[in-house]
Amino acid sequence: MSGILTYALHYQGAFNKNSLGAVSEGAKLAAELGGEAAAVVVGGDDLTDELCASLGRYGASKVYRVRGPEGLAQPVVDAMAKVIQEHGYDYALFGGGLLGFEVGAGLSARLRAGVVMEVTEVKVQDGRLVATRPVLQDSALVDSGYVGSPGIVIGRLNAFDAVERNGAAAQVIDVDVEFQPHSQKARMVKRGEQRGADINIEDAEIIVAGGRGLGQPEGFKMLEELAELMGGAVAATRAVVDAGWYPYSAQIGQTGKTVAPKLYLAAGISGAIQHKVGMQNSENIVAINKDPNAPIFEFCDLGVVGDLHKIVPKLIEALRAR
Ligand code: FAD
Repeated sequence: MSGILTYALHYQGAFNKNSLGAVSEGAKLAAELGGEAAAVVVGGDDLTDELCASLGRYGASKVYRVRGPEGLAQPVVDAMAKVIQEHGYDYALFGGGLLGFEVGAGLSARLRAGVVMEVTEVKVQDGRLVATRPVLQDSALVDSGYVGSPGIVIGRLNAFDAVERNGAAAQVIDVDVEFQPHSQKARMVKRGEQRGADINIEDAEIIVAGGRGLGQPEGFKMLEELAELMGGAVAATRAVVDAGWYPYSAQIGQTGKTVAPKLYLAAGISGAIQHKVGMQNSENIVAINKDPNAPIFEFCDLGVVGDLHKIVPKLIEALRAR
């Protein structure tokens, strides 16, 4: 079967935005290639028929359901390898994120398949996929094609939009996978919640991010209040994460997470290139900075020059009054 196989990660009865983006991108590319779009899911009883079939809305025509531990890379590698070997998909596509990177790299080693990572765009050229990835801190782009099959594409986190493709419910196919001995050595001990908001930062449509301009760790209380009023999540720069003001899980940038919310409000952030690469795809960037020459003003959509300690409380007051 020619086509594209994706992996969809779910948690508490829902697929995350990054996975839905991968499924949707896979469906679009499979249609252009004239092949089939399918997805693999791995998990327990919460992977109901209804939940799996819902991936049809994002364009998957088949969903291979594997009963096994959810959220760990190696069992997913086993599952994807089996489905690819038995059904002959031409490409495996992942949405990125830590799990996507680990599964994609593991699958590449298992199948001796070519892999391109941190991909931001994929196109079809002469009946084959070509993956584009930024290099040299996003100052140049490299196009890579694949020799042989399967080819593995690992997207940058949230690089692919989760577009509903009005597909019919996906056909759900149960697959038994004999996990490799080493795949059974890791187990999920605990899943922790991130501080700062109930909303997962990678899925948030609104992000309020703080940097060193907050002056002290307590400044984040103000941002958490603002984020709560706006229904958003709180993020941070590496400078404040390294200083211990906020957890690493909230760090955006080259060595943190990549996000693309509808609104990214940056307070007291200079806009260093290493931060920019993690948030530049946001639909709207609003920056508050007291330095009119701060680099962030060169790429934000709306810039407010001023002291965030005066502006943010006024914003909170205005939102409370609504
Ligand atoms: P600063 O650059 O110090 O900026 C603070 C800003 O706050 C200034 O522009 C200032 O004008 C403004 N300000 C001060 N007071 C106020 C006020 N009262 N009101 C309004 N504005 C005010 N950084 C990341 O964020 N993410 C990464 O993943 C990352 N990875 C890196 C990887 C490498 C290999 C390297 C070398 C660096 C990396 N960095 C990363 C660090 C990056 O280079 C910057 O140092 C960092 O992003 C700066 O954080 P900042 O904007 O909070 O601090």
